[in-house]
Amino acid sequence: MSKNIKLVHPRDQITEVISRIYKRGMTTTSGGNISIIDDNGDIWVTPSAIDKGSLRSSDIICVKKDGTIVGKHKPSSEFPFHKAIYEARPDIKSVIHAHPPALVSFSIVRQIPNTNIISQAKHICGPIGYAKYRLPGSDDLGEVIAEEFEKGYKAIIMENHGTVLGGSDLTDAFERFEALEFCARTILYGSQIGTPNYLTDDQIDQFEAQVPAERPEMESIEYTSDEVEKRLEICEIVKRSCQQGLMISSYGTVSMRWKDNDFLITPTDVNRWDIDLDDIVQIKDGKRETGKTPSRATWIHQEIYKNNPDVNSIIMTQSPYLMAFGVTDSYLNVRTIPESWIFLQDIPSVKYGTHFKNNNNSEIVENCTTALIIQNDSVIITGDKLLQTFDYLEVAEFSAKSIVMGHSLGEMVPINDDQVEDLRKKFLA
Ligand SMILES: [Zn+2]
Repeated sequence: MSKNIKLVHPRDQITEVISRIYKRGMTTTSGGNISIIDDNGDIWVTPSAIDKGSLRSSDIICVKKDGTIVGKHKPSSEFPFHKAIYEARPDIKSVIHAHPPALVSFSIVRQIPNTNIISQAKHICGPIGYAKYRLPGSDDLGEVIAEEFEKGYKAIIMENHGTVLGGSDLTDAFERFEALEFCARTILYGSQIGTPNYLTDDQIDQFEAQVPAERPEMESIEYTSDEVEKRLEICEIVKRSCQQGLMISSYGTVSMRWKDNDFLITPTDVNRWDIDLDDIVQIKDGKRETGKTPSRATWIHQEIYKNNPDVNSIIMTQSPYLMAFGVTDSYLNVRTIPESWIFLQDIPSVKYGTHFKNNNNSEIVENCTTALIIQNDSVIITGDKLLQTFDYLEVAEFSAKSIVMGHSLGEMVPINDDQVEDLRKKFLA
């Protein structure tokens, strides 16, 4: 989807985002609805009871400002609360409602997920409201939701129902939806293996205070064929990570060494699902490509490349099962199956803030391991080819998932030292 969302028709925006939500397992075929209010005051909304797995642009309904309905289906049965939100909050131009399982878990135990669980979510989601149970589709439900939005919230847990989020556009609403659902999952998975630790507001402010563009700009730039090829590879891996549930819109940095210590890296503040060749930033002699803002984490990628000649690609991301270990004191033992140990050997975990500039980061930069967890922030994976690095990420996430899921069955029995020695001789010698 084009990043200039104003140039994408509301119908097409809605179809694209509902398909992402469905494929990521965050809505069922029948549940969930999305709307956009345009500059005329007309509201574009998903139809009632139409398969979310095969929705087309032509299925989207327009409810005109005067109430006329244009389209071949009935509008969503939850349309009344979408309308109530727009009436209560003129700054909100798009609304997403769904019943994603992790947020529904919170909704049925009547809790709100604490977004201080990861670095960027508090800023993306804002404070979270809570709307009491009311009959679906009723004006009553519209009222209790609109009341919460009137208090200034943009994200709400609906008691025994689900969640509803607003945004300045659909991209903004989707980012909020994804981040909140990610928080819910991280807390749930973390709670299965330990006790989640939360960041303080001060620690989150330190994250927000990082300056992404402080390095000087280049005077001239060359786009050689191998450079352009790497841009394409980066974009493909970022999209694939989003599709596979290994990255969310609001966090994740991918880079590739280009030549010597020069490299290409993803930008800051661009929705990861929509990343494009033109967004990738070239870093040459420590300078950034003119007019572009590279990731906040650029300096750490630079230090890793400088100190580790064998590392040619880096993925820094948040994936739900690895982050379960990142938010608890549980140790991720990769001696689960041979594949995990051969690829990863050991996944150290470092304190939050180790990844900020001017802090002691030798653990990340000098003792660079294939995978490393930064508490309450992310996981860093390094490797030679980018696809291989992505594979390491998948292997690490799968291992973490197996341990989390297996935890309720019994104690994990790791591969023993002799077995590890045999693996070392056969695969790593
Ligand atoms: Zn619903």
